Amino acid sequence: MPQRVRFSLNRFAEPTLPDGSPQVRYGVLEGDALFETRTPSSEDKGAAYRMKDVRLLPPCWPSKIVGIGRNYREHASELGNPLPPEPLIFLKPPSSLVAHGDNIIYPTISARVDYEGELGVVIGKRARLVRPQEAESYILGYTCVNDVTARDLQRRDGQFTRGKGFDTFCPVGPWIVPRQEVQFERLRIRTLVNGQLKQDAPVQEMIFPVGAIIAFVTQFMTLEPWDLIATGTPAGVGPLEPGDVVRVEIEGIGVLENKVVRG
Ligand code: MG
Repeated sequence: MPQRVRFSLNRFAEPTLPDGSPQVRYGVLEGDALFETRTPSSEDKGAAYRMKDVRLLPPCWPSKIVGIGRNYREHASELGNPLPPEPLIFLKPPSSLVAHGDNIIYPTISARVDYEGELGVVIGKRARLVRPQEAESYILGYTCVNDVTARDLQRRDGQFTRGKGFDTFCPVGPWIVPRQEVQFERLRIRTLVNGQLKQDAPVQEMIFPVGAIIAFVTQFMTLEPWDLIATGTPAGVGPLEPGDVVRVEIEGIGVLENKVVRG
């Protein structure tokens, strides 16, 4: 099953567009050919486009983005934090979403902005009170996420909303790979800044696996189709500067690349 994309034919479309926008189209990618589909998940194949002629949009339009903090042992210790006894969760606003190729805007009110390469889980059907062993059937697929964080503001505030909530602080994409196509146990997150490797870890090192996260979250919050879970970042987080190009790669999923620009 091919990769699922959201796209616009307008090269200058807003980086994030609500799903009802007439500019938003859906498609499946087969090699270099992009075929338009009627709905985000339908199997029909309409008009064909070349990737260079379209603007990729964030591949999902979530009602909420659920982030998981400290889900890799070495990352928790590199920031001097204890391991959480249960998943540590926070929300990022959908207004923070941007696509592969869009700019990350470095806010004027922060002096320390970090990248966090993460595996993104996209929900496929409404999920409430899900048991861990059933969780996989609620997953539509996987994508790459950069959970960009203004670390100074996160520390100052004592909670995460402002530090992780700026516009452009949630690059996601470039597409969704359906879960049936993914060999989960082989996935490895790599983050590169200007071509230099900064993070490199197998997703198997997560403290709370995806099923446990979905079970935990759906005890109190209904997850809707296309909701996005950023499953936490491995060790190696560090700062970004205006002009940097940051790349989150997950082999078998894709490459998410964004440039940092001054706000
Ligand atoms: Mg994170």
